[in-house]
Amino acid sequence: MPTYQYKCPHCENEFEEFQSITEDPIDKCPQCGKKPRRIITGGAGFLLKGSGFYTTDYRSESYKAAAKKDSDAAVSSTAKTDTTKKDKPKTDKPKA
Ligand SMILES: [Zn+2]
Repeated sequence: MPTYQYKCPHCENEFEEFQSITEDPIDKCPQCGKKPRRIITGGAGFLLKGSGFYTTDYRSESYKAAAKKDSDAAVSSTAKTDTTKKDKPKTDKPKA
């Protein structure tokens, strides 16, 4: 029996339903009675899609961290370039 996961966009209620494939999708949120959104289709795909769902969540977190790291690296590499630029005239000064 596949598990269907629903999320109600109206009240943010998340719930799972064990249904047969022939059954109609739930169209009433048990909390508010409005139509929920089915986010996972059951069977073997449940685990795959479920883990993918969470992976996406983690990815967006690590993406943010990576993006921050990148901008930090960009800043420090810019600073490094600046230091190199500052050093060059210094070396040139005694010459001139
Ligand atoms: Zn609801």
